[in-house]
Amino acid sequence: MSCEEIKTIIPLYIKHTATEEDISKVEEHLCICDTCRQYLAQLMDKPNAIPAITAPRIQEETLPAIPAGKDSNILEYIMLGIGVVVLLFVVFLLIKG
Ligand SMILES: [Zn+2]
Repeated sequence: MSCEEIKTIIPLYIKHTATEEDISKVEEHLCICDTCRQYLAQLMDKPNAIPAITAPRIQEETLPAIPAGKDSNILEYIMLGIGVVVLLFVVFLLIKG
C-alpha cells in the first residue's frame, strides 16, 4: 500500500472505525514508514484536523406554521362588525346633531 492510501485510512484508524484489514495494513505500514508515523502523530495531536468522515448531521426539519384556526377568524369578524356598528352610530349622531 502506498503512503497516500495509508493516509486516507489513518483518520479511520484513529477513530477506530477502520476495518480489521485496514488496521493491520496501517500498523504494518507504520512499522516501515516514518512519514506516515509522523502523520499519525500529527492527527493524534490535533483531532480537529482529521477530515470529516462522519455522516452529515441530519437537519432538524422546521415545523410548518400552524394555520390560524376558524375561531380566530370568527373573532375577527365579530370585532369588525362591532367596529362598523360603532362607526355607523357615531355617523348617525353627527348627522342628527
Ligand atoms: Zn507511508
